[in-house]
Amino acid sequence: MKAESNLEKVIDAGHFAVTAELGPPMSSAGGVVREKADILRGYADAVNITDCQTAVVRLSSIASAAILLQEGVEPVMQMTVRDRNRIAIQADILGAAALGIKNCLCIAGDHQSFGAAGKLSGHPGAKNVYDIDSIQLLDILRKMRDESVQQGGDPLECPTPLFIGAAWTPMGDPVDFRIVRLAKKVAAGADFIQTQGIYDVKQFADVMEHVRHRGLHEKTAILAGIIVPKSAGMLRYMNASVAGVSVPDELIKRFPKVAKDASPEEKKAARAKSQEIGKQIAVELIEQVREIEGVRGVHIQAIEWEPAVPDIVKAAALLPRPTVAPTDTDAPDPSVDSAS
Ligand SMILES: Cc1cc2nc3c(=O)[nH]c(=O)nc-3n(C[C@H](O)[C@H](O)[C@H](O)COP(=O)(O)OP(=O)(O)OC[C@H]3O[C@@H](n4cnc5c(N)ncnc54)[C@H](O)[C@@H]3O)c2cc1C
Repeated sequence: MKAESNLEKVIDAGHFAVTAELGPPMSSAGGVVREKADILRGYADAVNITDCQTAVVRLSSIASAAILLQEGVEPVMQMTVRDRNRIAIQADILGAAALGIKNCLCIAGDHQSFGAAGKLSGHPGAKNVYDIDSIQLLDILRKMRDESVQQGGDPLECPTPLFIGAAWTPMGDPVDFRIVRLAKKVAAGADFIQTQGIYDVKQFADVMEHVRHRGLHEKTAILAGIIVPKSAGMLRYMNASVAGVSVPDELIKRFPKVAKDASPEEKKAARAKSQEIGKQIAVELIEQVREIEGVRGVHIQAIEWEPAVPDIVKAAALLPRPTVAPTDTDAPDPSVDSAS
């Protein structure tokens, strides 16, 4: 065992793992994180805290992860290389480990121009850092954990116990390049992988064949990304604008069409129907990716719609989540007399 996190134990015990994403608020409202923790508790083995996703300022992933710990929910802290150099990242990782955070997802981060792509202003003029890339970050974390050494060579007084993850975009040409990226991430230290959202399961299954051919599914635990669709418009946007995401037309056509001059009641009814269809599609995707050899779990991203997660996990027959018995190192030390 590397970090003794619940996620690591669930994966290690051979269970089909479930992680879910929690998006922190764009303010200091820690209560929002607590409310979302309440919604997700018991429905995922660990909950990912995004790190200023889409390059918009949010309550930090470290602080949000610490709040999750207080709430009895295991966090996966996400850490981008966009906003911090290697000194800041390592300092934050040490701080996170000191707080009891045991899982970390190493990612590049959305480009700062993304923040201004929607209705928000974001910070498109911000300077990005990219002092290191996501693969170097994996390598740094692995050495902090396994060799108790900082990237610059200075020793750490104690190891930094972390179960280390990476994001991976399996689809998009050229596929060979995608496999090489995965292999590099695994070699650098990725204990687990959370993929970009999968909608074209056939295409993903083909990529997984290459993964199995290289034996990578045995060296890391691949959790397939399930981004819960909310509308045809969302799927069309993702298909057109998110690199490596391809959405089959049949999925888009399942959502109701809403006439431009529809009444507010008609729009409300269409929204409710779309939500049901979106959850149903997520359940079907989970069932399909589960059949693919080498997929060891799912990462459910409901994107600011956390209340959908319990319904999906339940409908996909993923309850109850396993309780993994403590390992020997978790057990009380018999040499310590509890009565004294
Ligand atoms: C599960 C998941 C969670 C995420 N969470 C967040 C978050 O919390 N905050 C946030 O800001 N973003 C987040 N993202 C977005 C993500 O960081 C970006 O989409 C990133 O561009 C791709 O993922 P990565 O971090 O693994 O990138 P990397 O694998 O590090 O690659 C970064 C980019 O560079 C490209 N690239 C790498 N090497 C080369 C090369 N040699 N030549 C050409 N192109 C290259 C890659 O294709 C990719 O587009 C998340 C993505 C996923 C899948």
